[in-house]
Amino acid sequence: MAEVPEVETIVRDLREAVVGQTVRETDVLQPAAVRFPTVDEFTALVTDRIFLEAQRRAKYILLPLSGDIELAVHFALWGTLVLVPTEQSRLPETLIIWHLDQDQDMRLVDKLGYARAAVGTPDVLAERLDLNSLGPEALDPNFDVDILSRQLIRRRGVLKTVLLNQRVLAGLGNRDADESLWLAAIDPRRSAASLTSDELIRLHTAIGKVLAEGIALRGTQRDLFGHKGQAIHRRNIFEKSGQPCPRCSTRIAYLRIGGRNTFYCPNCQH
Ligand SMILES: [Zn+2]
Repeated sequence: MAEVPEVETIVRDLREAVVGQTVRETDVLQPAAVRFPTVDEFTALVTDRIFLEAQRRAKYILLPLSGDIELAVHFALWGTLVLVPTEQSRLPETLIIWHLDQDQDMRLVDKLGYARAAVGTPDVLAERLDLNSLGPEALDPNFDVDILSRQLIRRRGVLKTVLLNQRVLAGLGNRDADESLWLAAIDPRRSAASLTSDELIRLHTAIGKVLAEGIALRGTQRDLFGHKGQAIHRRNIFEKSGQPCPRCSTRIAYLRIGGRNTFYCPNCQH
């Protein structure tokens, strides 16, 4: 599943292998994959431009191009980008292909077909993707326990739901929220505003650890070059209902919170 460690892994790969390359041609195979503008405008705006940088904001990949244009890519649940030789056969789930230099393609692929790309000036992208409403980045070196506390203190909602609200905190997906709450030994059903200062410190530390570990293991999906990340083996509770909690051996419980699958230990998360 494409959460922040998976997206960040791809962004780092893009910096290494795509920044500096020119888009020679653009093929939109699935028109629905272009969020805006029209497919023709999208193709015309991106083609013949050079990738200048690769950045991430929440789960958006932002690729500034020459000429004050930016390409934004969002993977939704299972999308990804791959860099392959142009001659390599296309997977049926290929949505968009950017032909680059040296007979290489960058391809947006998604077996569910939900991944999206958009292009515009940085101002247009910020407005239409609502980028300025996003909360502080959990991976930002300046993200400290005071910021977490400030973001949660006035929120009456259920903790798990509040943590997934990207306007409160950008960077926690469903899986990483469950793993962080387990690591911090905090019950996901609590009210966000009810956390003590000790619990806030534990949660802040846990979020940092879960994200850093996910990135160090290069996520759970394949990277830009097709190598599989190793983080899937390091989950403690996510999608493990009925299995023993690694901390106290109680069976891991499952419930839906705010419409999202939630896994937690009913014994050691308070
Ligand atoms: Zn437990």
